[in-house]
Amino acid sequence: MHAKLNQIARFCCVKLWPLVSFFHKLLIQPEPGAFRILMLHDVPESKAANFHRLLQYLLEDYGILTPQEAEARLTGESVPLDRGRVPYLLTFDDGFKSNIAVAREVLEHYGIKSIFFVCPGFLDLPRERHEEVIVDSFYEGKIDESFPEERRLMSWDDCQLLVQSGHTIGAHSLSHRRLTGLDGADRFREIVAPGQILESRLGVPVKWFAYPFGGIDGIDAPSLEIIGSRYSFCCSGLRGINLPKKRALKLLREQLLLDMPFEYQQLILSGALDFYHYTRAKRLDRLING
Ligand SMILES: [Zn+2]
Repeated sequence: MHAKLNQIARFCCVKLWPLVSFFHKLLIQPEPGAFRILMLHDVPESKAANFHRLLQYLLEDYGILTPQEAEARLTGESVPLDRGRVPYLLTFDDGFKSNIAVAREVLEHYGIKSIFFVCPGFLDLPRERHEEVIVDSFYEGKIDESFPEERRLMSWDDCQLLVQSGHTIGAHSLSHRRLTGLDGADRFREIVAPGQILESRLGVPVKWFAYPFGGIDGIDAPSLEIIGSRYSFCCSGLRGINLPKKRALKLLREQLLLDMPFEYQQLILSGALDFYHYTRAKRLDRLING
């Protein structure tokens, strides 16, 4: 029943998109320096065409920031006007092997730099353990699709390759455990250790953190406090816009599936679904100052 309602809602959104888009552009003037972050995960070869279409649309209609440009907005170092547009920063969570092909064959083609959030506890796993870790740790055992044979995790060499290509590596906890369910020592380890391990193995500063599962129930005040003591920027999975000099530790991110109807993806990218997470984003705000 819920799936059916969802399908109907999406169909209506797709049909209404041209109208919504027209009034959205007419009525909403973004604040200078505002930007959005897109959260992606595995991008398999079968979705490459959809991914190209998405990037071309983002480049044309929104513009895409480098991680350094996003950092400059968040620290207040640079707050450009953007001529009425709200550019996007691209991020990839979980460290899927497909991200390497994406970085080399797609992002490089368009000159885009992104942030890849990885769990260093999974970067030297033997191939035969990848499926078990992905299903248990990323999906908490609740996967409702058959597991694609080609789905794998990246290695330390892959991470090094991303760094050499000018991308940014962020920490996504040590082993993708839900921070809110952990005791003090485990929570500290899951948050602080990945930054230290990534920095010493890759030889680059690690300033970005994205907490696992991304929802408001995946984070709490003690965790955010530790994150704030170790990292400069922290991403959630809640929808919404990010304003300059604000939210560095409670950044909002849009998410979509590459096989959704393109009009529905456009609707999400416009921010039209931000209302859905509005109260949760407010709760995130109250967890920490900064
Ligand atoms: Zn994740």
